[in-house]
Amino acid sequence: MSNDTAVAETDGRSRPEPPHAAPEGRHWKAVPAGSRWSVSQPGKKCRYRGASKTACGEDAAVVVTRGIRTPIPWNYCAEDALGQYGVWAEDGKVMTWELQDD
Ligand SMILES: [Zn+2]
Repeated sequence: MSNDTAVAETDGRSRPEPPHAAPEGRHWKAVPAGSRWSVSQPGKKCRYRGASKTACGEDAAVVVTRGIRTPIPWNYCAEDALGQYGVWAEDGKVMTWELQDD
């Protein structure tokens, strides 16, 4: 689950670094990740599996609802939410970085 980029510890209060430097004429802005994402309920565990056969199992930080007819909540820990989906919990909301024009 590790990669070369410095993945910030997200505890719901700290904001991670943007994924890379913004190109000329643009800048990163933290924006809400969207209505499918919300902060996990206490006690939920991360379901991320990656290449492994077993789920991560860490305490979940954020949850995304998947499925059209049958919405299913998928919880992710802070590390996997940021590493896989670029989202993090902050002040009770789920945020992501968006490139915007200067
Ligand atoms: Zn995880």
